[in-house]
Amino acid sequence: MALLCDNLISDIKMKKYYIETFGCQANVKDSQAMSGTLDAMDFSQTDDYKGADVIIINTCSVRQKSEDKVYGWGMKLGNPIAHEVQMYEKKGHQIVFVTGCMIGSAKGDRKRYDIKVMKDKMPWADYMLAPDEEYKIPEILVKEGLVSEWTGAALFPDVAPEKRAAPIAYINISTGCDNFCTFCVVPYARGKEVSRNQEEILHEINHLVSRGYKRVLLIGQNVNSWGLDTKTKFNLRAGSEHKIPFAKLLREVHKIDGIEKISFISSNPFDFTQDLIDTLSLPKIDRYLHMAVQSGNNEILKAMNRRHTIEEFKELVTKIKKTVPDITFGTDIIVGFPGENEEQFMDTVELFKWMKFNVAFISIYSPRIGTNAQKNLKDDVPLKEKKRRHKYLMDVWKSTIS
Ligand code: SF4
Repeated sequence: MALLCDNLISDIKMKKYYIETFGCQANVKDSQAMSGTLDAMDFSQTDDYKGADVIIINTCSVRQKSEDKVYGWGMKLGNPIAHEVQMYEKKGHQIVFVTGCMIGSAKGDRKRYDIKVMKDKMPWADYMLAPDEEYKIPEILVKEGLVSEWTGAALFPDVAPEKRAAPIAYINISTGCDNFCTFCVVPYARGKEVSRNQEEILHEINHLVSRGYKRVLLIGQNVNSWGLDTKTKFNLRAGSEHKIPFAKLLREVHKIDGIEKISFISSNPFDFTQDLIDTLSLPKIDRYLHMAVQSGNNEILKAMNRRHTIEEFKELVTKIKKTVPDITFGTDIIVGFPGENEEQFMDTVELFKWMKFNVAFISIYSPRIGTNAQKNLKDDVPLKEKKRRHKYLMDVWKSTIS
């Protein structure tokens, strides 16, 4: 009997999962939740996908290149194009989940693709789950016979502990986005913006502090609009006097004993109010601020449906620096947006020289199916020219930080 039990236990412990994460902090956070769920079901994580019983590919669809990497993943598991080709490595018992934004883009009210497109391109995937469906993994593993009904039920729907990477605990404060910047897939892939309530967030942080965490990163697609209704958030402007719930939340987190550093991402200029600027001087708030400006030219910003001008951005930065002189900045930039001419591009270059960003994610524009820019704006900057602008801006950026 003892031998039987030992065998059963070692059999359970032998189950392994492999997880590959593409994209931003929101995906990293979701992967931590899925890892925590699988750990709680006595799976162990492996770096070798070939030996895994469960493979999870957590996808990003922000750029075509990100999606292509996922389709390329199929080459590891089998031929992604020819359905009839026998998958040469995927073992009979291996279960492959594709999760994240690519699947979110093919499901729900705001979908950009038909799920059939995904299924045709990834015939090696057994299950395709949008970000808001990832909690179903235990239920599916029960159905597949990989875990017992009892274990799966204990973790269903979403009570599994997350496997966080020390030393920073990622905390989701909101999901989705309603801003619809014309180039962006997030409002489609992650759906409507929904804020978690304050009590739940503070409870989670207090719990993490009791487990020894000292640093938190608050995550949302646009954290500034946390807790606001749609009408109010669209009326906010950079540097305006409105009191916003996110600033209040930061103050509440700041009061928690044991927390030493608080960071947040993503923040946009258009709803960065004076109230929020004031919180930056609190001693535990990170002195690095990531704020996506996207372009240095007002016409391009308008075409991108960004609700700030460069004058407002500069004024905001000036106020922030006055409040927190030792702050450093990071940003996201797109070059070669539809209609961007040389003069408009040089406005971005000038902004870089003025800002001296410490961190810059500079991307070449690529049209994303179903977005407003893809449907309504001509992708008229030749790729060669986009690459030249990318290199030029990279060189300018490097020269400003050296
Ligand atoms: S604010 Fe704009 S760029 Fe950021 S996630 Fe929302 S739509 Fe995308």
